[in-house]
Amino acid sequence: MTAGEYTVAAGEHGLATGFGDTGTVGIGGLTLGGGVGFLVRKHGLTIDDLLAAEVVTADGELLRVDAETHPDLFWAVRGGGGNFGVATRLKLRLREVDQVVGGMLFLPATPEVIASFVAEAEAAPEELSTIANVMPAPPMPFLAPEHHGQLVVMALMTCAGDLEEGQRAVAPFRALATPVADMLRPMSYPEMYPPEDEEFRPVAVTRTMFMDGIDRGAAETIVERLQASTAMMAVTQIRVLGGAMARVPADATAFAHRKSRIMVNVAALAERPEQLPEHEPWVTGLAAELRQGDGGAYVGFLSDEGEERVRAAYPGSTWDRLATIKARYDPDNLFRLNQNIPPAVDGRGSR
Ligand SMILES: Cc1cc2nc3c(=O)[nH]c(=O)nc-3n(C[C@H](O)[C@H](O)[C@H](O)COP(=O)(O)OP(=O)(O)OC[C@H]3O[C@@H](n4cnc5c(N)ncnc54)[C@H](O)[C@@H]3O)c2cc1C
Repeated sequence: MTAGEYTVAAGEHGLATGFGDTGTVGIGGLTLGGGVGFLVRKHGLTIDDLLAAEVVTADGELLRVDAETHPDLFWAVRGGGGNFGVATRLKLRLREVDQVVGGMLFLPATPEVIASFVAEAEAAPEELSTIANVMPAPPMPFLAPEHHGQLVVMALMTCAGDLEEGQRAVAPFRALATPVADMLRPMSYPEMYPPEDEEFRPVAVTRTMFMDGIDRGAAETIVERLQASTAMMAVTQIRVLGGAMARVPADATAFAHRKSRIMVNVAALAERPEQLPEHEPWVTGLAAELRQGDGGAYVGFLSDEGEERVRAAYPGSTWDRLATIKARYDPDNLFRLNQNIPPAVDGRGSR
């Protein structure tokens, strides 16, 4: 089942669970990795609404896991990805999310606008979650032709609260510059997932990181580097976190980056996989320039980057705890074609 399908079905009842920014993404992988999306500041990560799961473990057993039954496994599947078994059922909490002020706001991507956008997103009420894609404007029909290819902030915004408050919350963003296009409006939440172009299936080279802040200097770097990219499409995506997500203790689930303030993804898109190596230095270069003190990574956005980066997704004691649970439920590492957490060598033990 995909995020879009679930959201439409739940939306018929004025309810929702927060997933990511793309309707065609499966809720299986997204939930097990954490789930950062349109409701992250208001309701937390998707795993914060995971109440129970059914998991087929490496030995073929079907386990029902929740806070009371196999709590170790329930802890691990909330962020540990597909390492512990195949989730065949997920029980998710539904929130009352009906009408929201949301949609897309396109602003000219100057360094001032980018830095101010981030500052406003941090200062905004937590009802408002934002995903700011700094990228060349795609040739979308609602964008005037003179903007096509020009660098814009394409912001996906969701204010899940009272509609009047929502309008007040988005006003400062509208005032940052004359919008290139302003499509923010009251809408039913499932409209946040518009139909996707089935034909457009690009491949990408990506790097993900957490940042503490994006000042004018960092914003200038983003603009300059994006202007220099030769990829079919290059993007720096900025997600301001905080709110409900940050109130969950770091050791409550296998997603430990609760205090990380901003998630940034750098990506270069291409039509065919063989075109990607050409753009990799650009992506890794910009990511290295932007990276600050927070060495962590969100597992959902990691590509095939090696063991060290998987460890970065699970800092400190999270890694050891996951490896011990892995040894308990999958000692032979049957589930290894993933962001792999190998079983702890001395971790075999009873469940
Ligand atoms: C276009 C796009 C946008 C995205 N946006 C967001 C976003 O906004 N927020 C966010 O948090 N993430 C986002 N992601 C990342 C996404 O959460 C991960 O790619 C996730 O793994 C996708 O899950 P899936 O079920 O669709 O993928 P699949 O390719 O089917 O699965 C990926 C991996 O997840 C594991 N897995 C999947 N289902 C199960 C299951 N039932 N049981 C056990 N393991 C399973 C397996 O290890 C599998 O190899 C995005 C990804 C894409 C491609």
